[in-house]
Amino acid sequence: MTHLKYVCTVVALLAASTTAPHAQTARAQAPATAPQKTLLDGLHERIDRSADVVLPKVVELRRFLHQHPELGNREVQTSKLLAERLRALGYEVRTGVAKTGVVGVLRGGKPGPVVALRSDIDALPVTEETGLAFASAERAQFNGRDVGVMHACGHDFHMSMLMGAAEVLAGMKADLPGTVKIIFQPSEEGPPAGEEGGAPLMVKEGALDNPKVDAIFGLHVGITPAEAGSISVRPKGIMAASDTFTITVRGRSTHGAMPWAGVDPVVVSAQIVLGLQTLISRQVDLTVAPAILTIGIIEGGSRSNIVPDEVRMTGTIRTFDADMQRRIHEGVARTAEHIAAAAGAKADVKIEIGNAVTYNDPALTERMLPSLKRVSAGPFNPNGPVTTTAEDFSVYQKQIPGMFFFLGTAPKGSAPASWAANHSSKFSPDESALVTGVRALASLAIDYLAGSAK
Ligand SMILES: [Zn+2]
Ligand SMILES: [Zn+2]
Repeated sequence: MTHLKYVCTVVALLAASTTAPHAQTARAQAPATAPQKTLLDGLHERIDRSADVVLPKVVELRRFLHQHPELGNREVQTSKLLAERLRALGYEVRTGVAKTGVVGVLRGGKPGPVVALRSDIDALPVTEETGLAFASAERAQFNGRDVGVMHACGHDFHMSMLMGAAEVLAGMKADLPGTVKIIFQPSEEGPPAGEEGGAPLMVKEGALDNPKVDAIFGLHVGITPAEAGSISVRPKGIMAASDTFTITVRGRSTHGAMPWAGVDPVVVSAQIVLGLQTLISRQVDLTVAPAILTIGIIEGGSRSNIVPDEVRMTGTIRTFDADMQRRIHEGVARTAEHIAAAAGAKADVKIEIGNAVTYNDPALTERMLPSLKRVSAGPFNPNGPVTTTAEDFSVYQKQIPGMFFFLGTAPKGSAPASWAANHSSKFSPDESALVTGVRALASLAIDYLAGSAK
C-alpha cells in the first residue's frame, strides 16, 4: 500500500521533471493494463548497472584499506584517501570533522531533501590471522600498548561500498531530486581513553548541518552468519545499548605462600565475575528483552608468588530496555561491593553510559523496505533479529530519523559454525556482498529523495 502510493508519487515527480511535455501526455494515455515501467525503474536499472561498473574499484579500495587499517581518531591516511576520492567525484568535501572525519556533499540537479549515508572508518587493535593475501601487518600504540591493527569489524567494507555508492550517485547528479551527504565517521569503536570522538563529536561539529540532513542510512556487515548479499532490518530497536563498567578490587598485598597475612583481590575478583553472571541469569526478566554482561579485561599482579594489592576489571553491559538497564547498573555495584566486603576487600564500581539503542524510525523503515528488498541478493528479512552488539549510529538517530540494516557476508553454502564473527582475528567477509552494499546505499538515497520530493 505504502509502496504503491510512493511509486506513483515518484512517477509523477520524475515525469514532470525529466521528460518533455508530450512524453507526459503519452505516459498518461498509456493503457492501464500495459506493464508499467516507471522512471524510478529506469533509475534503478542505472544504479544496478553502474554498481557493476564501479565494482572493481570497490574491491580494490576495500583491499587497500584492509591492508592499511588505522585505529580510532588516528585514521589520518584513510581520511586523506577518502577525501581525495570524493573530491575527484565532484563532491564538496569538508575534512577534519571530529578529528579525522570526512563529509562530502553532492547537490542534485533538482530541488529536494537532504539524505545522508554514513560509514565508519576505524579499525581495531587485533592482530590479523585471516591468511588473506592483503592481510594487515600494521601495528600501533593503543592505550599504551603495542598492538596489531586490523579491520576486524568490516569497516573497510563499509567505506569501499559507500565510496562505490558515492560514485554511482555522482553519475546521476543531474537527475537527483535533492542533496546527498556522504559521512565517513572516525572512531565508531570508541575513541582512545581520554579523547572525544565518533558520532557524538561528528554531530557536535555539524556533520548533520549545512545542509541540514532529513534522514540518514547506514549498514553493518556480518554481525550474524547470514549469507553474503542477504539483507536484514527491523523497525525500532535493532542493536543494543552499550555501557562500560570498571571494577577496582582493593585487597592487601602479601606473600603468595602466606595468603592469610593479606586480603587476596584475585580470588575476590573471580567471585565477582561469577556473581555478575547470576545477576543476568537470576535477577532480570530475560523474557522482556535480552541482556548481556561480559568482563573483557582482568588485570592485576606481577609475579606468581605475590598476592597483589588490587585487581581491575572492565566489562560491557548490553540492554534493550531502559528499566532493565537501570536495574543491572544497580546490581553490578551491589554485587561487586558486597562480595568484596564479605572477604574484607573493597570494590569501587564505575559505570560509563555508552551508546543508546540503535533505533530504526518505524515510518522510515516501513517506507524503505521495498528498496532493501529489491537489492537483497539473498533472503531478505524485514523482521531480522535484534543483536547485542551496539553502534554509535544511534547518536544520529536521536537527532533525525534513521535506519540501520545488516548485510550478510558469510560465503554462500558455508556452515554457520565455521563463520568467524566481527572482532575476531579471523573475520573475513565474503566480497561477493560488496555489490549489494553499493546498490543498497545508492538505492536508499535515490528512493528516499524521489519519494520525499514535493
Ligand atoms: Zn565493531
Ligand atoms: Zn563495526
